[in-house]
This record gives sequence, C-alpha cells and structure tokens, in this order.
Amino acid sequence: MALAHLMTGIQRVLIADDSIVSRHLLEATLRRWGYEVSVACDGAEAWAALERDDAPSMVILDWVMPIMTGPEVCTRLRSLAREQYTYILLLTSKNLKEDLIAGMNSGADDYIIKPFDQQELQVRLEAGKRILQLHEALLDAQKKLFKQATYDELTGLFNRSRILEILRSELARAAREQTPVGVVLADIDRFKLVNDTFGHDAGDVTLQQTALRMQSSIRSYDAIGRYGGEEFLVLMPGCDLGCAAQQAERLRLAVSREPLTLSGGSGSPELLLAVSASFGATTYYPGSPISVEGLIKLADEALYEAKRLGRNRVVTRQDQSAPAEFQHNCDAEPVTR
Ligand SMILES: [Mg+2]
Repeated sequence: MALAHLMTGIQRVLIADDSIVSRHLLEATLRRWGYEVSVACDGAEAWAALERDDAPSMVILDWVMPIMTGPEVCTRLRSLAREQYTYILLLTSKNLKEDLIAGMNSGADDYIIKPFDQQELQVRLEAGKRILQLHEALLDAQKKLFKQATYDELTGLFNRSRILEILRSELARAAREQTPVGVVLADIDRFKLVNDTFGHDAGDVTLQQTALRMQSSIRSYDAIGRYGGEEFLVLMPGCDLGCAAQQAERLRLAVSREPLTLSGGSGSPELLLAVSASFGATTYYPGSPISVEGLIKLADEALYEAKRLGRNRVVTRQDQSAPAEFQHNCDAEPVTR
C-alpha cells in the first residue's frame, strides 16, 4: 500500500501534535502541497496509527505530547525493525543542541523548529520523499537478487545451490528428529533428442512443463529444484526408501500421463510430444555417516540404472552405511515395469 502511494507520487503523512493550532496549520499546509494527511492528537494516537501495517511512511512528530513524547514514539517505532521504512521528522520548539542530539538519537531522520518556516518544511519533506524512494528501490533490488540467488529462472523451481542448501538442513533436522529423508534424482528421457529435433524453444517448454507437472505432484513439505540441465532433485522429508519410491512413482506418472503440447508458433500446427522421465531414489536414515555428495551419488547410480533398464521408471538404491535396522532388501530393484 505504501509502495502504491510512492509509485503514484502521492505521499501519505501522519501529523502528530497536541496543539490544535499547530496541527491544523500543518495539515492545511501539507494538503495544499498535495500530501495525503492523517492526524493524531497525542503520542498514543500516533503510535496506534504507526503500528498498523498500512501506516503512512512519513510522520511529523511533535516533541512534547501527552502520554508519549515524540522521541518515545520514535524509539518504539524503530524497535519494530520493519522492512518498510518510516521517515520521521521531529517538530520542536526546543533549540538546545543537547535536545536535538537526543531527538536524533531516538531514531528521527530530521527535525524542524517551531514555529516552522514553510519553505524549510517543504524542502525537508522533499528530502524525506527521496530517501523513501531510494529505500523502496533498494528493497526491490534486494528482492530481485534474492530471487535470482534462489530460483531457477526457466522453471521457477529452486536452483541447484538452494536445493542443496535445503538438503543439508533437512539432513541436519532428520538426524535431530530421528526421521528419514527421501532423495530422488529425476532426468527427462531423451531430452537431447527434443532439443535436436524440435529446437531449443521446444526444449525449454519441455523443461518448464515437466517441472510444473512434478512440482504440482509433490507433497507440500517436499522440495524440488533444478539440479542441472534436464535433471531435477526432489527431497522428501520423513520418507523411507519404500515411501520415496512410491512418491517417485507418482512423479513419474504425473510427467508421462499425457503428451506435452508444443505450440508450433507463427502459423505452424501444434505438436504433441510424449514425455517421460527416469528416477533414481535413495533415502538418508538417521545414524548414517553418509554425506550429501554420497546420497546424491547413490541417487545418481539408481537413475543411471533406470536409464539402462529402458528409461521411464523408478529404481532405488539403499544406503549401505545406514544402521542395520534400516537395511531392506530392495536395492536397485526397479519399482515400475
Ligand atoms: Mg506539543
């Protein structure tokens, strides 16, 4: 909401002042300059207005007010540590240097001495607006960077470094809570052929659609990331090997259930493309000394075996270093076919 106001150039300002005369004068002046104004008559009212999620991002706080002084409101507001910045102007008849230092120390951005000079107030508000716009731009850039560092641009899934980070923290949690974690590597079958035959755009659509089919089939607490090229890594907290195989089988069906529709583009007819993926599943069991790399290697070996056996299937591989009670005799057995 505050952002929308910044974007349209309309700035909302809260005026908190216990003097009716001063409050009305400020309100009329700011409205004339095009600000959207709300008012508070004491410190408590000011705090109530600022505490709200849709609080104005600029505030003019009188220093001396009943219930809470301006600097007290300042201190409280700064302790909220919000993402959205609030630009604070303290209004004061005090002009002792020590007082001003105390006011700024409470977290105010600037101050105005009463009775205020109109021109001075105007330029100080403009300066505040610039700070808020910079802050907004910085937040946007930060969000963009975070997205780039976390997600794969083409598929919207987690990228390789993020899914590995999640795997590491899931393993730590599993060890603590004594629960297993299913780890599944999936690879689109004959992807190179799609690229070579129908071009890279078709390849991209295949990646996106396959990713979407898998993402909408995982459980809400599972995580899926693009591990590389046409390879995906799926993490299944709480899943032993049998459960991981079952979940992988669900994903396999979701991917291969119906052909993909590739639009021919510029008048050419649509193209139906059969798509499938092979899956290698393993599971981390608490007490196993296996590393992240070791788990991925096991899943990769199982995946390789699934390809070797004819693709479009799930193969499991047991972690041999897991405690004996978790050793089952289903190693490298293809689950499907
Ligand atoms: Mg006052």
